[in-house]
Amino acid sequence: MRRSLAALALGAVLATIPTTVALADPAHVPGGPCIQDNQNVSLSSVANYADVVAGLDQIERTSNGLVSVGSAGQSGEGRELLYATVGTGPDVFWLQARIHGNELHSTEAALAILKHLASGAPDARLIRDNLTVVVIPMYNTDGAEANIRQSTTPLRIDLNRDWENFAQPESRAFWQLFTQVRPTYALDLHHMGQAPIVAGTDDLNQFQIGARSIDPSRMTAAQWATNRAMAMVSLEALDQFGPVNYARYPIIDITNAVISRMIMGGTAPLGETPVAHIVDGAIFYEVRSVGQKSNGQLENLFRIPTMAVLVAAADGSLAGQDISGFDALPFAVQRPCGV
Ligand SMILES: [Zn+2]
Repeated sequence: MRRSLAALALGAVLATIPTTVALADPAHVPGGPCIQDNQNVSLSSVANYADVVAGLDQIERTSNGLVSVGSAGQSGEGRELLYATVGTGPDVFWLQARIHGNELHSTEAALAILKHLASGAPDARLIRDNLTVVVIPMYNTDGAEANIRQSTTPLRIDLNRDWENFAQPESRAFWQLFTQVRPTYALDLHHMGQAPIVAGTDDLNQFQIGARSIDPSRMTAAQWATNRAMAMVSLEALDQFGPVNYARYPIIDITNAVISRMIMGGTAPLGETPVAHIVDGAIFYEVRSVGQKSNGQLENLFRIPTMAVLVAAADGSLAGQDISGFDALPFAVQRPCGV
């Protein structure tokens, strides 16, 4: 389904993004990792829904036909749930950003990655030839406009806990897209809610690798191996980028998260039939929360490992990735902001 972006945007309910954000947790380190009480944080430089509409339109129009933009459906407030497709390869790579509306910079990272994938760069050509990349720059459009984690209407719920109940139209729409494109790989981009340190150090944790949103016993052995390979490729890319204090995401087993159900299968919205398709691998990133450092660095912490995983999936090196170092990776220690 292809529709013009102008038509898509016409149907959208545009809302005004707030210019300030207040967080409940107090923080007291000026210039530190956490937003402080009474601190004005400008969201004017953060991509909002209108920026996504305009950005996707611009990328599509200048891509010489390499990028096509479509809508998976409409949000609770009536915004189009836009996604872009680039590449002609047999394996589909699902890249989703900002399922939590107040996790800001993954949208810009997704748009930057899409723009690069439409370019003449050698890695972009390699990826286009071997993969079909589906990019969702703003999964939770309503939550993003309201600058909250959850959806706004009809229910205010966490969209990343809704792939069992499918209470939200966003979940049903993206599940339909999932059944149509049947991805081989999935990557989900998040920001941390706290300011953890890397266990055994005093280093502020900047990046967490989420190789498992569910217990590995719920995956096939091949999926668990692929997830760890995607994780190690990501971290090796960050090592080359420069000093990044990374850690493993805490142990969780959340079966109703989007990528969890892409791994497990077995669910469908009411009235739909579950599809047998499951992904080969699906992981997530958690990048340091929004603070006072440059937005560009936060974007890089998404972009660099994502590109590395795309290249590894495209050139086949993912299958041969050494995962022996995974078990030695440190965990993060959660710490409230300002401590
Ligand atoms: Zn999140």
